[in-house]
Amino acid sequence: MTAGSYVGRFAPSPTGPLHFGSLLAACASFLEARRHNGSWILRIEDIDPPREQDGASDDILRVLDAYGFEWDGEAVMQSRSDEQHREALVSLSAHTYECDCSRRKLASQPVGELGVVYPGTCRDRDLAPGDTATRIRVGDAVSQFDDELQGQQAMDLARESGDFVIRRRDDLIAYHLAVVVDDHLSGVTHIVRGIDLLSSTHRQVFLQSRLGASTPTYAHIPVAVHPNGDKLSKLTGAPGLDGDDAAAELAHALRVLRQMPPQGLEDATVDDIWAWALEHWDMSRLAGLRNVPA
Ligand code: GLU
Repeated sequence: MTAGSYVGRFAPSPTGPLHFGSLLAACASFLEARRHNGSWILRIEDIDPPREQDGASDDILRVLDAYGFEWDGEAVMQSRSDEQHREALVSLSAHTYECDCSRRKLASQPVGELGVVYPGTCRDRDLAPGDTATRIRVGDAVSQFDDELQGQQAMDLARESGDFVIRRRDDLIAYHLAVVVDDHLSGVTHIVRGIDLLSSTHRQVFLQSRLGASTPTYAHIPVAVHPNGDKLSKLTGAPGLDGDDAAAELAHALRVLRQMPPQGLEDATVDDIWAWALEHWDMSRLAGLRNVPA
């Protein structure tokens, strides 16, 4: 790969402070980008105000800075590309329809890998936009991609998802559409993120094909788990990171990411830890792993 042709990114949602799981995704995507002499974009996914926490965006920027992350250019606020998200929505209109099904109405439907499988109730109703969501028809699409860490992935979208929402009933653009449009606008070539997003990647790959956007290379890193197997998350008591103990937490993140840092690296400076990590980073140590002990 020639210098500069790799564009990676980290895309946290400002729903709360960064936690250890997000630090792992940030480290892995950053190190992988730098190992390829690539650039690394930071995008704050602030397009879901009801789920956002006051001050979280600033807090995320401050904490990433405390860890010594260096992103290229200004941090991108996803809300700035609202117009492009809506243009993409319009460009997909030959494949979409309006739907007024409530969550409650759908609750009794079969569940697939991506949650409730939409049975197509509104597909031929030709509803006018109003108090409605917009869904995209999946037809008989089978999405496929080769994940750098998790191998070949395939999904029959009709069976596991059904037609899915790309504009919500509250008129907010759904995550899958926004993420695909923004990665495309930023020329992202490689996406390294947590395995919790592995199966939803299929919807994103499907949207890329509908929009004529190229599919980036994906690598989904394992999730960090407590000894009892529970995923580390806010719900299971993982604390928000404040960056006060950045060196020790970075060194610990590298250990959890199976990079085998030398004993004592946690006592080094943040700069020295990054220097070590940039020299030794080997993402393939995570190949095939779905979870790693925190
Ligand atoms: N904003 C998403 C999250 O914080 C991640 C998006 C992505 O990496 O594609 O879960």
